[in-house]
Amino acid sequence: MRTIHFLAPLCFFMLPVAVVAQDDLPPGAQGLDLPYFWAYDPPSTLVVPQHEVTHAKYPFVDVHNHQWNMNDQDLDQLVHEMDKLNMAVLVNLSGRGGRRIEQPDGSIRFGIGPPDHLSAVLENVHAHAAKRFAVFTNLDFEGIGQEGWTEHAVTQLRADVAAGANGLKIYKSLGMDVRDAAGKRVAVNDPRLDAVWTVCGELGIPVLIHTADPAPFWLPKDANNERFYELIQRPERYRDPASNPPFERLIAEQHAVFRGHPQTVFINAHFGWMANDLGRLGRLLDALPNVYVEFGAIIAELGRQPRFAHDWFVRYQDRILFGKDTWRPSEYPTYFRLLETADEYFPYFRRRHAFWRIYGLDLPDEVLRKVYYKNALRILPGLDPSLFPSD
Ligand SMILES: [Zn+2]
Repeated sequence: MRTIHFLAPLCFFMLPVAVVAQDDLPPGAQGLDLPYFWAYDPPSTLVVPQHEVTHAKYPFVDVHNHQWNMNDQDLDQLVHEMDKLNMAVLVNLSGRGGRRIEQPDGSIRFGIGPPDHLSAVLENVHAHAAKRFAVFTNLDFEGIGQEGWTEHAVTQLRADVAAGANGLKIYKSLGMDVRDAAGKRVAVNDPRLDAVWTVCGELGIPVLIHTADPAPFWLPKDANNERFYELIQRPERYRDPASNPPFERLIAEQHAVFRGHPQTVFINAHFGWMANDLGRLGRLLDALPNVYVEFGAIIAELGRQPRFAHDWFVRYQDRILFGKDTWRPSEYPTYFRLLETADEYFPYFRRRHAFWRIYGLDLPDEVLRKVYYKNALRILPGLDPSLFPSD
């Protein structure tokens, strides 16, 4: 087995990684107290023009955001934070509708209404900042496979949308963790969900769907894995191939859903985990005009291929949406800088996603406008165009 000298300190974590024998060290490292490999991140000595961007050039829609307590959250405070970034609309994907409510007589009510989470969220939004938020509902997979599950899910979805939900968000649990009533894994393209996708098309709402995880999570935890650092920091993210469906199967299932429901608009979250192979993602978009993408949590991939990604954004400018996922206002400026500037070799904020620095894409204004708001205005119902430039 090849040994890796800078992993020696990891034995502290009892990880199954290669540990070096002293005589495998390169000559210059003999006897040195070597740093943890993640500690080696020296300040750059490169001096080049820097353009910090704290405020997006155009008002934007963040289509991938989670606010977990929007039912009683102080939305004025949230709007204040959004204004500082020039975020016009925040899409909260965690509306948590789709909850069946058991009545005192034992019957199940599928319509919306207190005390469910979604109606409390919508009430808060409408009372405080109706134009500034869109809320997606979710599906409750509990009991899938039981008689009538699909009909009930569709009824609930219609009720959620009638109450004001602007879309449906599907979490990555579908395909990986969701089990049916018989205990079997529910595939992303399970036919019991077909009616749900169809109804979304009829209702004119998009489905934002996150499937699988970055492919390296399925690979051995070793020095050949680009997400090794993440698998050390977050060991639960490792997808043991012995007990998980393969990455490629999950992706194929997701694409089968897109293909099978051409009248439904899908937003493939996190660039469908193909930001490291934009050629492949482009072929998917070429084949399936109902599919859009958002770049939450994958901009470090774009920032290491700035020329190819620039041209890709120009080519697919009508299909890309702004998404971030984690609500941490201090991280948005890195997104703006990536999209708007030609800055070189600047830091990305989450080392477990990338041990490299990134480069700006320097996108033309017309592409920026589409990515920031025009595409969202086209596919998300209920947004107020007056929040955005009219030309
Ligand atoms: Zn998310």
